[in-house]
Amino acid sequence: MSRLESKASEDSSKIGSKPSLNYTLSKSYDPTTEEANWREYWRQHDTYHFDPHDTSRKTFSIDTPPPYPSGDFHVGNALNWCYIDFVARYKRMKGFNVHFPQGWDCHGLPTEVRVEQTFKIRKNDVPPDQFVEMCRKLTGEYIAKMKQSMNLLGISSDWALEYKTMDPSYYKLTQLSFLELFKSGHLYRGEHPVNWCPRDETAIAEAEVVYQERRGTLHYMRFGDAKGGIEIASTRPELLAACVGIAVHPKDEKYRAMVGKTISVPIFGQQARVISDDEVDPKYGTGAVMICTFGDKTDVRWQKKYHLPIIKALTENGRLSVDDPRFKGLKVEEARKKIVAELQAKGLLSKTETTQQNIGTCWRCQTPVEIIAKPQWFMKTRDLTQKVVEWAGMLEWIPPFAKQRLIDWAESLDWDWVISRQRIFATPIPVWYCTKCDSTIIPDENRLPVDPRKETPPAEKCAKCGGRELRGETDVLDTWMDSSITAAVHAGWPNKSDLFSQLFPADLQPNGLDIVRTWDYYLLVRSLALFGIAPYKTLLINGMVKGTDGRMMHKSYGNYVVADEAIKKVGADAFRQWAAAGGSTGYDIPFRWNELEYGKKFLTKLWNVTRFILANTTETLSLKKPVKLSLIDRWLLGSLHKLMREVSEAFETFQFNTALEEIRNFTWHALADDYLEAVKHRLQPGRDPADLEATQYCLQEALLTICKLLAPICPHMSEAIYNQLPSRTTKSVHRESWPETKTTLDDISISNGKLLLDLIAYARREKSAKGISLGSSIKKIVIGTEAEQLHLLKENEETILRTLKADTLDLERLPSNSNRGKEPSAGFKVEIVA
Ligand SMILES: [Zn+2]
Ligand SMILES: [Zn+2]
Repeated sequence: MSRLESKASEDSSKIGSKPSLNYTLSKSYDPTTEEANWREYWRQHDTYHFDPHDTSRKTFSIDTPPPYPSGDFHVGNALNWCYIDFVARYKRMKGFNVHFPQGWDCHGLPTEVRVEQTFKIRKNDVPPDQFVEMCRKLTGEYIAKMKQSMNLLGISSDWALEYKTMDPSYYKLTQLSFLELFKSGHLYRGEHPVNWCPRDETAIAEAEVVYQERRGTLHYMRFGDAKGGIEIASTRPELLAACVGIAVHPKDEKYRAMVGKTISVPIFGQQARVISDDEVDPKYGTGAVMICTFGDKTDVRWQKKYHLPIIKALTENGRLSVDDPRFKGLKVEEARKKIVAELQAKGLLSKTETTQQNIGTCWRCQTPVEIIAKPQWFMKTRDLTQKVVEWAGMLEWIPPFAKQRLIDWAESLDWDWVISRQRIFATPIPVWYCTKCDSTIIPDENRLPVDPRKETPPAEKCAKCGGRELRGETDVLDTWMDSSITAAVHAGWPNKSDLFSQLFPADLQPNGLDIVRTWDYYLLVRSLALFGIAPYKTLLINGMVKGTDGRMMHKSYGNYVVADEAIKKVGADAFRQWAAAGGSTGYDIPFRWNELEYGKKFLTKLWNVTRFILANTTETLSLKKPVKLSLIDRWLLGSLHKLMREVSEAFETFQFNTALEEIRNFTWHALADDYLEAVKHRLQPGRDPADLEATQYCLQEALLTICKLLAPICPHMSEAIYNQLPSRTTKSVHRESWPETKTTLDDISISNGKLLLDLIAYARREKSAKGISLGSSIKKIVIGTEAEQLHLLKENEETILRTLKADTLDLERLPSNSNRGKEPSAGFKVEIVA
């Protein structure tokens, strides 16, 4: 590192000064050392610093998703961050003042569950403060690990903008957003059925329910007496205790006479009223279904629609709470077995069938979700559905199909968002209640953050009834309440300065396809409620990574790759090429080691090309465009301009795979295979100085442009090369301006040069086919071609002779062939005379 440090101190960023650099390209390319050196160089120069006072440049703000600090930064995360970084680096070079913060979404079940697993405890085994402390400590360790991985990957976030949602300063913002939504009528507290995880003992949102196909058993049970009874098939006999009604289809003749009557429920004996409803599928089971409070969402609807009573049969930890000593306290599965046995013993079970079920499970622990009603806080998200759909339609989506995913999700929601959680490590809900009249008491905004679980209430008595007993809320907020305001927080909210209006809405919202319905939805719905506008302009959605076995990458499949492991093996720049080249933005991409190796191979090639060019060009030469340029020089510069156009267009449209493919093709084929081979002879001692100057100019131009174009994808390698070039103008390629071309393309040179180079390549093949080594001289080369190409070859006789090491060139005119194929050799006749 010392060689770079010495450079840093003497370096000046002024254009025109050419800082001499002791650093030179080592013989072989070692990513581990090289990349670490350059990261340190960037850190010392604060290369990615966002300047809030810079008014000369337009801002470009990124609403970086704050990840859960799980400690693992897998290749899927890495893909997400590579996309963000490609854009950030590109925009910086395009002249934007890029705002690229990084936060950490600390709260939520995963962390609590990890603490429980790590310390082999349940959340209530230790005092809450101690539990929170354990969560904080573990979170801190995980953040450190993930931060290291992001750095290893060469991510250009500005660490001065780092934040953690578990910090009191962030609590304050989450709580403030809660109070604002409460005051504007977007929040309410009420007892409504919600999805509930009995293992984690908390409410969960619809977005956190994962549906799984499982096999279940359909039990045919007899209700009522033998004469006036009814047979009902159900997969959940344990809910008999909560059965409050029976539903049949209105057109089902079998049951028409029973509608309106009550029938006794087996074992538990309560009376259930028969109702008819179109939603009943007469073909399922016996065509009659039991309504339990609550087996599923249909039960919730029917209970409300038909004013049925509510019987709470399950406790919050998923046990039967009935007064019957035979079943009280049994877990759901045990209760089911025991009730089935009881039904059988009483002759009330006629048959069983296996059936395929689509069961809602907790996203975190896969436990089947129950529906439980207890007082909860809700956000009125359904009122905003129309607005969400309208705004989603106005935003730019990359790829466009992701938009429909959000719209479908928003329209499918039939419950409001439950924002309270019965957990510990989370942002406290900043409210107190009057125990007498149950009214809600909120603190002054200046007092935030507050923890009503342990702090004194903001008032001595209830303003409504004068009651003096005030109780602090013990529930906490859903972690999405923290993370769904990031776009505004990044912009400095609640301080609505000029900077706020520049950074909010964010220019870019980058995230994975898997969290469109959570992250993108919550951000949008929160922002519409709080600010009346969407929090982002463009959504850049990345696909998921598939393992080497073709399945989605998952820890339980054994195909899981940690990003660090891959980076340590091939280097960050090779890894980043895999991320760019893997596929079109938004589509799933496979993880393949050979693609990472290919990326590394390309870098080695580029390194060798650079070394060759640097060894054969000098710093003392003028870097002005020489007057005399041969056809292949003009071809190279023309092709280079074409490349700039194509790569810029690809970055503008987020097609990173196209950008990389164009750069790699140009470097490997146009520059290394074609141009370098054709001009090697011009670099020999004693050549025409004008030729030498032209060649050196073209090579430097090509190399400088390649390293600028490649900088967003391969930041380390680009920096290493850039710092060798006499034509550099700043101390980092990442502070360079993006190569632009405004002139019209030199199409004639591009096509004629291509023709000449193809001919040379063809003649070289002919030479080796005759058993003559490429380095050996030959007497004569005879080329036959159509009349219109003859003068082109004559003009470039020198290049042909030198490249092929021939003494003389004979040109023959061939009859015009209108059927000439695409391959140029099809129109040529080449003869080698040794
Ligand atoms: Zn769970
Ligand atoms: Zn009161």
